[in-house]
Amino acid sequence: MEEVKFNWEEGIDEIENEIKKYKKIGLQIPEGLRTKASEIIEKIEDKGPKVFLWGEPTYGACDLADGPFADIEIEALIHMGHLPMPYHSDSYKIPVFFVPVRHSGNLEIKKESIDKIKELLSNEIGIVSTAQHLHLIEPLKKKLMEEGIDAHVSEGGPRIAAAGQLLGCNSSVARKMKVDGFLYLGTGIFHPLTVALSTGKPVVNIDPHTAEVTVTEPDLFLRQRYAAIHAGYEAKRWAIMFSTQIGQKRMDLTEKLVQSLKNRNYQVVAIGSIHQNPEQLSGLNIDAAAITSCPRTAIEDGPTWPIPLLTVPELQIILGKREKEPYPFDEFA
Ligand code: SF4
Repeated sequence: MEEVKFNWEEGIDEIENEIKKYKKIGLQIPEGLRTKASEIIEKIEDKGPKVFLWGEPTYGACDLADGPFADIEIEALIHMGHLPMPYHSDSYKIPVFFVPVRHSGNLEIKKESIDKIKELLSNEIGIVSTAQHLHLIEPLKKKLMEEGIDAHVSEGGPRIAAAGQLLGCNSSVARKMKVDGFLYLGTGIFHPLTVALSTGKPVVNIDPHTAEVTVTEPDLFLRQRYAAIHAGYEAKRWAIMFSTQIGQKRMDLTEKLVQSLKNRNYQVVAIGSIHQNPEQLSGLNIDAAAITSCPRTAIEDGPTWPIPLLTVPELQIILGKREKEPYPFDEFA
């Protein structure tokens, strides 16, 4: 297997003429690229501007730091590793340059991988992926079609910049396709899980580096989520945790949930921050919390919190506003 490498250099070269106009530029890099921060800064500074690195985690284009950098007179922002979210691209406080970070290496699909995909999925399938692997969708589709598999790729909704692109909070590229199942090109279990829950259809995964084929199994996840909902029924004092980040804030929803809880005689506190963590509840005597920002926080980190941490639709089940089945995944419109 080829060593997995990230290609971030080309994207910086492509914006050279734009960024050399600025004296001070902010930089956001995804968690997986932090060890390369010094090299990235050096490469940008070689082109002219002084670089100021954003220290908060950067999980997506939902997490833009244009506002705080604008407040300290940084002139522009380089945001690496994520595609823009078209619905909020008119509201940046300073110019933002999105630099792609792509896994390099070729996609070599062996015969046994194709055979396994045929065995696990019906003939008509949709391909979905994440930002780092979008450039591999077309070669994969071509290969599948050559093998007699009817493969499709779709555009998504207003949060989505490219065909086939998934976000953990948005599977619109999958929901728009009338297919029998999905092939997720990528690594990790979260994104394919969201596709399985959001569509109710089978999801098979192909690792872009090893071509290993696996199946997404939502059962364990569903057990954990229903246990958290069950524990939430006991709570008397709630927190609704919201984010101030451009692509994660849902203030109308936050206020509606607070009011719904009050109407049912629960005590409730609305708590805002950039990223939410259990320390923010310290000393507040909270029994359970729901989070209106990134649903990944509840799903991946929630089981380690000392109280039940629910997504919005999970709290709506407790409030009697939603059915329990099928499990309602928290998708951002
Ligand atoms: S899943 Fe979370 S981190 Fe990813 S784009 Fe959505 S809100 Fe942002």
